[in-house]
Amino acid sequence: MYSRKPIFPGIIELNFQAGEVLGCNVYLVYDADEWLLIDIGYEETVDDFIEIIRQLDFPLSRCKTLVATHADVDHIQGLAKAKQILKTTVTAHPKAVRPLQEGDTLVTLAEIEAQGLKMDMPPVQIETQVNDGDVITVGNLEIKVWHTPGHTDSQLAFQIGDVLLSGDNIYRDGCIGAIDAHHGSDIKSFVNSLERIRDSNVQWLAPSHGPIFANDAAMLNKTIDRVRGYLKMADFGTLADSWPLMDQWDEEVAAGKLPDGLEPPKQ
Ligand SMILES: [Zn+2]
Repeated sequence: MYSRKPIFPGIIELNFQAGEVLGCNVYLVYDADEWLLIDIGYEETVDDFIEIIRQLDFPLSRCKTLVATHADVDHIQGLAKAKQILKTTVTAHPKAVRPLQEGDTLVTLAEIEAQGLKMDMPPVQIETQVNDGDVITVGNLEIKVWHTPGHTDSQLAFQIGDVLLSGDNIYRDGCIGAIDAHHGSDIKSFVNSLERIRDSNVQWLAPSHGPIFANDAAMLNKTIDRVRGYLKMADFGTLADSWPLMDQWDEEVAAGKLPDGLEPPKQ
């Protein structure tokens, strides 16, 4: 048996508990004997995580549900396997239902052909859909559901008291979850989600990757400014709103303007 190392009352992060990073952060939320998991990670680490839970003396039959923060393969590939072992249900945002139930390898980023990346994405049935404002209970503990789109359209976050299990919204170093059109990123929504986190009464952010950290307006503002800038940058392709250089080019072509400092060659 292991002794439990909760980070907050009723919240254990299983990599931290194990003293070893096995994959994405997996939060076990519990009250008395009842518990649930927020994400499960890759299929190959499911047995390790379940063994840790067993060693922590949580009855495997009391897993209320497995919750998906969003439909990216590194968070949810192991759901089908874990569900079978724990004989429980799966909970996700409505926009995660189709990719999870169909095992969509493109939307979950399990398959990136140009990088030669191809992983399995075992389909899994979703019994419960949750959306912003819903409350999930574990024993007497209340988990408030936030819908925080931006990284993906199905991204959820979960508030427990002054802690937000904040998903792939923001990490301790100011990085954010990957912006990629294929899994439904949206830059404006991302800015809104980050502003909501900044303006909330949440004191602690417990992300889906890396260490837990304090909700700090200065750090959030720096990231929000950077992300807002992406709306006008070619770097983000079809996800950008506009590219001001193309307006300048229209004007310069119409005016026949040569580059500054360049003289037209003699005819
Ligand atoms: Zn993700």
